[in-house]
Amino acid sequence: MVDADFLAAFMDDDLIEQLNGMPTSIVERAREHFERKYSFSLRGNSGQERRHQKQRQGTDIDEIFKEVKEELDRFVGIKNELRCEVFIDRSLQGWEGRYDPNFLYIDVGYQPRKSGLSTPASQMTIVLAHEYAHHLTFCALKPVPQALFSTFIEGVAFGLERVAADLFTKKYASSAFQHFALRETIDLLEDFESVRQLSASPLSVSSYACHARGNALFAVLESERGQDIYRQILHGEFKW
Ligand SMILES: [Zn+2]
Repeated sequence: MVDADFLAAFMDDDLIEQLNGMPTSIVERAREHFERKYSFSLRGNSGQERRHQKQRQGTDIDEIFKEVKEELDRFVGIKNELRCEVFIDRSLQGWEGRYDPNFLYIDVGYQPRKSGLSTPASQMTIVLAHEYAHHLTFCALKPVPQALFSTFIEGVAFGLERVAADLFTKKYASSAFQHFALRETIDLLEDFESVRQLSASPLSVSSYACHARGNALFAVLESERGQDIYRQILHGEFKW
């Protein structure tokens, strides 16, 4: 099961050290992996842009959240007893989300963007998957003191976002989900590399960088070892 020793290996300081020591070529390899997957999701085998045969149109938050929860609970194999509620916060931009680990709720924004092939419903699905991943992490590894583990927490959330994108892409025969999640992964990998190149000093613990750091580390691990790492982590079975 998950214990303090297991969790201690995921503290920001240690993960940042790992990232600082990671050669650019390894991060590039991860980027190529997701770029391949991304262009496959856009074009499929035939090289033709895919059509959305069974496009999900509805954007009822409660309905989409129920599906996200079902898919991710099944994937990680955890029967989650702690309830997690979702609220709409109109002050948030786009489909931005926020998870509150103390009161166990998710706030999401409500202004769908037109973004290539991704649709409002697919954007909402992926944002909710990210925030629900935070809920799963906090419940499975409780208590997780957020400040010291931001790289880990964000990395797992982006990972489970990609898992949800794959599951929904299959379920709805639509690449809209992967389009949104994989584009985000690739953008964050590029951010990570440009921050590394710009700053002579190693990556700092502070700032938004936890998204870029967490995404980079887990994108590398996932491209080498597959998506099962997220299930292993939430069961305390992951080994470095
Ligand atoms: Zn997050």
